[in-house]
Amino acid sequence: MSPVLQELLILQERDSKIQAAKKDLENIPLEAGKIKEKLNEKLKALNAAKDTYFDAQKAVKQVDLDRQTRKDTITKLKMRQGETKKNEEFQMLAHEIVRYSEQIDELETKELELMESVDLRKQERVEANDQLLAEKKFATEKGQELVELKKNSESVIKKMQSERDSLVQKVEVGARELYERLLASRGAGVVVLLKPEGQCTGCNMKLPPATIHRVTAGAELVQCSECSRILYNA
Ligand SMILES: [Zn+2]
Repeated sequence: MSPVLQELLILQERDSKIQAAKKDLENIPLEAGKIKEKLNEKLKALNAAKDTYFDAQKAVKQVDLDRQTRKDTITKLKMRQGETKKNEEFQMLAHEIVRYSEQIDELETKELELMESVDLRKQERVEANDQLLAEKKFATEKGQELVELKKNSESVIKKMQSERDSLVQKVEVGARELYERLLASRGAGVVVLLKPEGQCTGCNMKLPPATIHRVTAGAELVQCSECSRILYNA
């Protein structure tokens, strides 16, 4: 392989690392956003679970209040029963007392059901809280990872950039300009292997025998006629 191709491959290795590190850096805010979004979802779920739990408690209190009201009414009806001298009124009051007692029974059944629901809602609230805590823990760990990734990526970019800056000076000017031009338009990976079957690794195009011959000879930089990448022969 010609020295210029060797230089370009070393340069390309640095550029690939720079490109990968830059991509990682770009992804960091997106990842951070996703973490925040998930955390918000869990917080919303907990607030909803709290509301549902309080509503269930309120429903029990209301039924309890309704039951108490009827008990008070029964007490009053019994007093009136004790005071009345009319048999017809006594019977009417007795009938009312039975009616209210039946309502109290119904309310007691309803209250028991509602209390079971309160227990369930309470459990759901605990679970939602646990989930939020787990998500917070995950977010903290992930946040720390992202901080590390940022630091590492920045350090890789700095190191690789400085290496490529000194490497690029050594490359013959025509080859350097061609490489830089291709890098700017295609991204890292512009010096590509010519497959034994005569295909360009960059675009998979089968190259004409004359081009293959020029690559194999290795006397000059040969570009793929399809994608313009620089070809080399292993
Ligand atoms: Zn190609």
